[in-house]
Amino acid sequence: MTHTVRPRALPALALASLAALLCAGPASAHETANGGAGFEEPELSALTCGTGDEASCPRGHVLRLSGEGLAQTRKVTFLGGRGSRDDRTARPSEKSPHRVLVSVPSGARSGPVRVTTATAAATGARLRVVAAAKPAAAPAPSTTPASDGGVFPVRGEHDYGTETNGFGGGRGHDGHDVFAKCGTPIVAALSGVVTFKKFQSRAGNYVAIKADDGTGQAYMHLAAPATVEKGDRVTAGQPIGEVGDTGRANGCHLHFELWTAPGWQEGGSPIDPLPALKRWDAAG
Ligand SMILES: [Zn+2]
Repeated sequence: MTHTVRPRALPALALASLAALLCAGPASAHETANGGAGFEEPELSALTCGTGDEASCPRGHVLRLSGEGLAQTRKVTFLGGRGSRDDRTARPSEKSPHRVLVSVPSGARSGPVRVTTATAAATGARLRVVAAAKPAAAPAPSTTPASDGGVFPVRGEHDYGTETNGFGGGRGHDGHDVFAKCGTPIVAALSGVVTFKKFQSRAGNYVAIKADDGTGQAYMHLAAPATVEKGDRVTAGQPIGEVGDTGRANGCHLHFELWTAPGWQEGGSPIDPLPALKRWDAAG
């Protein structure tokens, strides 16, 4: 039986080594610079934490070092602050010409990261080492503010619907509908004060916020009454409720409105929120 299996496995192996050869291509420049001595100088171009973060990584998490000439990496040193007292070294769990995987040691401190091969060393960017995440904690939804301080209000998979879900939409639609599963967390898009929290037959559970610049936002069809109260101060990214389909809603979605100062139902006018939504969405 094994006779039939082995020959089939061979082409896959051959392909794998071919891929390794192709990947090693750019490193030949270093070999030439070194007089073709047959060793590569390592070079670090990027650090990426297993959490997806590029700037920081918790202790115990896997860190990916990307670069060139990394196949012969023997150890990775987390240099920490000045001097060698707080240096911590770790052996890579995986290495290839372009990447090394290593677990951030428990005693590591924030500082540059260095790779050492048999013949050379390279020091890369500074890594912020943070405390190990509590295993029981649920991953917090990422709320990276955009340059205007805004945060995309739907914290989960979503889509922007069709033309009829847009502003105007041929029927005087004052906002934009963002579709997401019922129960998806909704956060305040901008910091401000809660001005309305009510139930209405068409809007369902809704909440309105007056931002610090006087403009207004409204969030409609929430699954349940908003988790903030009228008069509450909220910050961008703060959870205020969940996507639902209360009121006159065709499927689970957030109906989101942006109003000019002095805000929602306080004398302002509705404007198309889509450009802001897209900007916040792009920021994460
Ligand atoms: Zn709508």
